[in-house]
Amino acid sequence: MESGFAATLKGLNMKVTPKRIAILEILSKESIYLSPEEVWQMMRQRFKSIGLPTVYRNLEDLSNGGAITKVIHPDRKLYYFSCGNPGHHHHFVCISCRRVEDISFCGRDEIENEVNNTLKGKVLSHVLQVYGICNACINEKKGGI
Ligand SMILES: [Zn+2]
Ligand SMILES: [Zn+2]
Ligand SMILES: [Zn+2]
Repeated sequence: MESGFAATLKGLNMKVTPKRIAILEILSKESIYLSPEEVWQMMRQRFKSIGLPTVYRNLEDLSNGGAITKVIHPDRKLYYFSCGNPGHHHHFVCISCRRVEDISFCGRDEIENEVNNTLKGKVLSHVLQVYGICNACINEKKGGI
């Protein structure tokens, strides 16, 4: 599995380091997003003296390089998430159980049309993240009451 993460980093033109690989392993095991502090707690089991700033920096590098996804949560804190889907797609984030699911809807064409034709500009990139309550959480609530 390690070689897979190394290949992912190389494919993104990112330097392969043991800490980056460890972060990818930790995040890939979870189907929920994690806070930097949570990643740090898990990293400390492998890198005894690692500091929180190092984890912050590595998460930021991995996210800027496109290896992981940054979740900008409505609570205004930052979280990170990794999904194995390499294609262009977006995420549905459950703010109740922190599960993240893929959304195939993009709307890129509509956005580009709007920017090209109405604003007379040019799209370079876009960010779309959807927040809500997932199906499992909705059903849990129904059953619990
Ligand atoms: Zn949920
Ligand atoms: Zn995804
Ligand atoms: Zn898109």
